[in-house]
Amino acid sequence: MSALRPSPITPTVDFERDGVQHGFLRLPYSRDDSAWGSVMIPVCVMRNGKGSTALLTGGNHGDEYEGPLALYELARTLDPKNVSGTVIIVPAMNYPAFRAGTRTSPIDKGNMNRSFPGRPDGTVTEKIADYFQRELLPRADIVFDFHSGGKTLDFVPFCAAHTLPDKAQEKKAFAAVEAFSAPFSMRMTEIDAVGMYDTAAEEMGKVFVTTELGGGGTSRAETVRIARRGILNVLRHAGIVDGEVEKGRTQWLDMPSGDCFAFAEDDGMIETVVDLGEPVKDGQVVARIHPVGRTGQPPQEIRARMSGLLAARHFPGLVKAGDCVSVLAVAVRE
Ligand SMILES: [Zn+2]
Repeated sequence: MSALRPSPITPTVDFERDGVQHGFLRLPYSRDDSAWGSVMIPVCVMRNGKGSTALLTGGNHGDEYEGPLALYELARTLDPKNVSGTVIIVPAMNYPAFRAGTRTSPIDKGNMNRSFPGRPDGTVTEKIADYFQRELLPRADIVFDFHSGGKTLDFVPFCAAHTLPDKAQEKKAFAAVEAFSAPFSMRMTEIDAVGMYDTAAEEMGKVFVTTELGGGGTSRAETVRIARRGILNVLRHAGIVDGEVEKGRTQWLDMPSGDCFAFAEDDGMIETVVDLGEPVKDGQVVARIHPVGRTGQPPQEIRARMSGLLAARHFPGLVKAGDCVSVLAVAVRE
């Protein structure tokens, strides 16, 4: 690879300094209302001597709230006396998207989780991705990225990691997932892993852990509690924060193949036939898509192509052809 130019992002914090720093990743962004303006991405660095480094992110997608709620709180309340090593917290990674309450950036329509490895001379979203790729990920031992369903999906609350070719790396990631202690723990399969932050971290050999904790463009009391307890558990498990992991019961789930996913083939009004977490048999109708242009038309039936439980569903009441309607997962017997 030819040498890339330096990142245009300047941190106002020193990642090597002990103590707590609340600052910004400042990205120049010249525009109509601010000729020499910047995007100011909040960052907190908490360091206490040598030790492992955790890189924690929320708001990779701007309409998912459990991560930002847990991470702004953690940045405000974690005491560096209880830290050994470094915790880097970026509660709203795609900050322009987070401020707009949208999945992608209002500036360039960039989906952060499809923009890696990014470009130092690209769009705003690509410049943020590049900074994580070349400046922040290399510092980290463990990388934790919060997600939820956003405005268009809703999930049973789970913590997840991917099956990986490096089994030692995979084992460490699944151990961190277990420590998070969400009601569900997922061995995750991606529809399309190209450009994901997950893939960037995993290819660097990092322990990468993520979540899907709800959705609908909001959060719930239960899912926020899960997020706050879970992230402390992961930091304790990694030996970065003092204290015992607060173990909870978790049900492991597996997404064994592409048969997990169902997609709409027509536009219409969606009727959920199965609720989140309910069991589903192979061939069973999980949703109906009702045509709304005229009366007298039968609904399109979405049938399960495997047995399992409903792990995710389309959230808004109207659906378009190509939308993901449902995701099934298989309970793994412990
Ligand atoms: Zn997301």
